[in-house]
Amino acid sequence: MSAAQAPAPSAPEGIDTGADGGATSPLAPGAGLLGVLGGGQLGRMFVHAAQVHGFRVAVLEPDAASPAGAAADLHLHATYTDADALGELARQCAAVTTEFENVPAGALRVLAAHCPVSPSADAVEICQHRAREKAAFAAAGVPCAPHASVTTADEAATPELAALLPGILKTASLGYDGKGQANVANLAEVADAWAAMGGVPCVLEQRLPLRHEISVIVARGRDGRVVHLPVQQNLHRMGILAVTQVPAPDVPAATGAQAVVLAHRLVQALSYVGVLCVEFFVLEDGSLVANEMAPRPHNSGHYSIDACDVSQFDLQVRTLAGLPLVAPRLHSPAVMLNLLGDLWFGPGDDTPCTPDWPAVLSLPGVRLHLYGKAEARRGRKMGHLTVTAADATTARATALQAAARLGLPAF
Ligand code: ATP
Ligand code: MG
Repeated sequence: MSAAQAPAPSAPEGIDTGADGGATSPLAPGAGLLGVLGGGQLGRMFVHAAQVHGFRVAVLEPDAASPAGAAADLHLHATYTDADALGELARQCAAVTTEFENVPAGALRVLAAHCPVSPSADAVEICQHRAREKAAFAAAGVPCAPHASVTTADEAATPELAALLPGILKTASLGYDGKGQANVANLAEVADAWAAMGGVPCVLEQRLPLRHEISVIVARGRDGRVVHLPVQQNLHRMGILAVTQVPAPDVPAATGAQAVVLAHRLVQALSYVGVLCVEFFVLEDGSLVANEMAPRPHNSGHYSIDACDVSQFDLQVRTLAGLPLVAPRLHSPAVMLNLLGDLWFGPGDDTPCTPDWPAVLSLPGVRLHLYGKAEARRGRKMGHLTVTAADATTARATALQAAARLGLPAF
C-alpha cells in the first residue's frame, strides 16, 4: 500500500483531530502541491522545507516580488480574499497553510471546505486578537499578564485601570515588532494613547518586571500528538527580536520545562493542528507569564533549520501533510542574529551599503540566510545568521564576533 492510500493515523480517544476530523489520509511526500497564504520570509522557508520533502508549493501573495513567491513553484498574484485565486488554490492544492497571522480567517474557511487547512481559521482568529488570545490562555490554565480591554472612551477613562499602571496599551489586532504599543504611566496617558491610536480596540497590560524572554515552538498533528523544539531565549531591541540563543543560557531547567508544559497544554486546549509559537516572560521572581502566541513558525525558531534534525518548517510541512511527528533533537547549540535593514545603511547616515558578508562567512559555523527582499529599510527583517558550534560557549563567542564585524551590538 502506498503512503497515499494508507489509512489516517487513529486519534487517541477524546482528542479533537481538527477541521478534517482526522479523516484525511496523509499526503505522500513527493506528490502534490501544498499551498501557503502569504509571501514573506516565513513562507519562503516553508517553501524550501516543503520542496525538500518533494512537494511543490503554491504561494498566494499580492506582491509580485515576495520572498516566498520567488521560491515557490507557483505564485498566484492576488489578494488573500480573491475568490478566483482561492478557487484555484482549492482546486490545485492537497492542503493549505498560512505564514502570517493576519490572513483573513474567511479565506482559510473557504479553503477548509475543500482540503485540509492548518492552522484552522478558528485558531488563527484567536491569535489575531490580544483579548481573545488572553482568554484562550486563561481557559487553558496558562498564566498571562494582568490586563483589561479598552474599546470605548468610557473604558479608556475607567479609574480601575490604575491598578494596571504603569502599563502598555497595545492595539488588540495588527500589532507586530512592537508597533501599535504605547507606554502609559497614568490614567490621562491611557486616554491620550487610546485616542492617538484612533480609538481602535486595545488591551491595557500591566508592565511586568522581566528577567528574560523565552519562547517555545510546539507542533500538534492531526492525530493529537504534540512535539516541541527546545526552549529559546530571546533578546529584543526596540520591540524587535534581535538575538535567540538555544539552549537558553540563563533559564533554569525547571522553568524551561514548565514553559514546555504550558505550551503543550495550550495547543491541546485549542485542539490546534500545525506549528504554534508561545512567547513567555520569565519574571524577576522566576515565574512564567505567557505574552502572546503566533499560529505559525516564528522568528525565534529560525535556528532550528541549522541546529535541529527537524526544523520548525519541517514540522509545518509534516503537520500540514498529516505525516508523523517525531521529537526534534538539537544537534548543535545555536545563536541566531537577526539582520535588519539598518545594516544596509552607513552608520548614522542613509548612504546605501552592502554588509561585509565575507567577514562573517569567514567565521566557522556561520550560516547566512537572506530573504531575497529587494529593498532594505530600517527595521525591516532582511535575513538572519545562525551560528552553530560543538558547545554553547563557542557558538556565543563566534556570534559575538559576527555581530562585531557587522556593527551589531553585543548581547
Ligand atoms: P511580535 O513582533 O513578537 O509580534 P508585538 O509587537 O506583538 O511583537 P509584544 O510581543 O506584545 O509585541 O511586545 C514586544 C516586546 O515588548 C516584548 O517582547 C517585551 O520585550 C515587551 N513587553 C510587551 N509586553 C510587556 C509587558 N506586559 N511587560 C513588560 N514588557 C513587555
Ligand atoms: Mg511578541
